[in-house]
Amino acid sequence: MNFKNITVAGSGVLGSQIAFQTAFHGYNVSVYDINDAALEKAKERLAGLKDVYANYFKDETKAIAALERFTFSSSLKEAVKDADLIIEAIPELVDIKINFYKELATVAPEKTVFASNSSTMLPSQFAEYTGRPEKFLALHFANEVWKNNTAEVMGHPGTDKQYEDQVIEFAKSISMIPLHILKEQPGYILNSLLVPFLNAGQALLAKGVADPETIDKTWMLATGAPMGPFAILDVVGIQTAYNIVANEAKHNPNAQPIADILKTDFLDKGKTGKESGEGFYKYPNPSYLDPEFLKA
Ligand code: NAD
Repeated sequence: MNFKNITVAGSGVLGSQIAFQTAFHGYNVSVYDINDAALEKAKERLAGLKDVYANYFKDETKAIAALERFTFSSSLKEAVKDADLIIEAIPELVDIKINFYKELATVAPEKTVFASNSSTMLPSQFAEYTGRPEKFLALHFANEVWKNNTAEVMGHPGTDKQYEDQVIEFAKSISMIPLHILKEQPGYILNSLLVPFLNAGQALLAKGVADPETIDKTWMLATGAPMGPFAILDVVGIQTAYNIVANEAKHNPNAQPIADILKTDFLDKGKTGKESGEGFYKYPNPSYLDPEFLKA
């Protein structure tokens, strides 16, 4: 493995998980965020993740050892001074990312490979600002990295394949399953499949074709899948689903009735999905998990 020192930029929900997963597998991890308050928050998140990893992997010693491998800095120059790889997990806003890559280009050592964890943007949107387009690509993790261990690896047309290979090796070394995407694709593989699937389920509801339980039941019975679209929507969170469909409605009027249902029947009533205890199903015992659900 070529990489020894990893920098994670942005230590929010995903950045802290990526940092912990990396340190848990023995790497030194430099954590960068914009100021000391954000870094204090990062320390709290990482301490919380120590307990998550200790419980999930039943290995408290290894989880405690991971905590020893972090350094923290709010100076980008300092945070990347030894980095072989930097993984960017800063907010999903184009201007913030452009400014970040412009600054990074001026302070990172020549050897550093840059990887973005962006969910919805493409590496080609930022390549020109990195100063090293051949060493820039996407490395996309899923929330709850320790168990949802996909790592979608996607270059842009100017990425040198040797760095894609190195990032794939790195992903394997931290127990991720690398999924190599051969051509730039908005939404990678997962969201290219999932978003249209969830939209199709919601469109059936909005048109009055069937209720959520019947739609989920059909999918589960016919394909053997453990969840249908509405059970998945509850896990994703109805606020996120609403954001996607409300955005779609700006240029596709067919999406507006779906957005209206999500807002009026769910968000306005505090039903935001599994996290709040209710969405399309009631938790902790949603009906789709009842063994009788598929029999009736
Ligand atoms: P978040 O809001 O939880 O964290 C963002 C972090 O970036 C914060 O710690 C913030 O202080 C920091 N930050 C803000 N401006 C910065 C700057 N200029 N430089 C450095 N750090 C800065 O966001 P998140 O959910 O962790 O998402 C981060 C990235 O990961 C996004 O690109 C998102 O698309 C992607 N992602 C998120 C998820 C998810 O489920 N949340 C899943 C996969 C990928």
